[in-house]
Amino acid sequence: MSPPNAGLRDRFGRTIDYLRVSLTDRCDLRCSYCLPEGYKDFADRGDWLDFDEIERIVGLFARLGVGRVRLTGGEPLLRRGVVQLAGRLKALPGVHDLSLSTNATQLAAQAAALRRSGVSRLNVSLDSLRAERLRRITGRDVLGPVLEGLMAAKRAGFGPIKINMVVLRGVNDDEIDDMAAFCIEHGFVLRLIEAMPVGDSGRSAQFADLQPIRERLQQRFALLDAVVSGGGPARYLKSPDGRFSVGFITPLSQHFCAGCNRVRLSVDGTLYMCLGQDHSLSLRPLLRSPASDADLITAVRAAIDLKPERHDFRKAPGKVVRVMARTGG
Ligand code: SAM
Repeated sequence: MSPPNAGLRDRFGRTIDYLRVSLTDRCDLRCSYCLPEGYKDFADRGDWLDFDEIERIVGLFARLGVGRVRLTGGEPLLRRGVVQLAGRLKALPGVHDLSLSTNATQLAAQAAALRRSGVSRLNVSLDSLRAERLRRITGRDVLGPVLEGLMAAKRAGFGPIKINMVVLRGVNDDEIDDMAAFCIEHGFVLRLIEAMPVGDSGRSAQFADLQPIRERLQQRFALLDAVVSGGGPARYLKSPDGRFSVGFITPLSQHFCAGCNRVRLSVDGTLYMCLGQDHSLSLRPLLRSPASDADLITAVRAAIDLKPERHDFRKAPGKVVRVMARTGG
């Protein structure tokens, strides 16, 4: 048996050192490939982990060597008190990197406080710079507030700020150069993402293969291989003058499961081992029982043993029925 504080390693020899924590499965947007209009299958409020429970779990993970934590959702900025929670998590021994993913609709008002609370890196989802197109993709008219949020984040000094753009064939794949110019102008890192077949909405997305797009950008900007902090599964390229960095998240055209280092905690306390598989374990019953920290650590280790080798997005695209907002994207 591993000593209680030994690091987390799965059956395939991968070290798990990154935890994504979903603060809510709700979102104010209805992105066509993510959360469908009319979706109602949200977690019951009574099942949401409260901040003490989240802090306890994150603290235990940190003791197990998981020092990188990302707050996500749903839309994490919809959860009241997120700034206070961020401060509590950043203060935990062993948490050395706290980041957040957001759609930025609520970011303008919270960016400075989030930065002060210890969130250092920010990923902002933005699939188009054209107001009407963004409205069609997200179901809401949000370009104005999102850009205000981004500029507030820039002033607050997050580094880096990454723009997540899900590339959709025939929808926004003609806008990558505009997005690159926008990122160069503001010093943002661009991350292009292939749509994944999670949930019905993900499966009906207009998938675009990023390999040809990568080759075209590589030639156009004379891009070189690069390492970007918090790189995760993205493969990055950088322009020779260093002003443009672009990452490619290619779960379908070139999967990166062999290097997977993460697990996801959903708002109801379910630990998901893989975005593209159903292996999971609910920690909520233990958290709401007199279980000791040692009991929880044993459960976490048992969950890590369930981590599958890889997703089956290509072989079995119908497999994952839960939407991304539920797992914590
Ligand atoms: N609301 C936050 C945001 O907008 O970043 C965090 C949650 S959101 C689910 C996290 C990321 O997942 C976003 O960049 C979103 O575009 C991406 N995403 C959602 N569904 C997806 C899918 N089917 N395929 C690929 N990416 C997806």
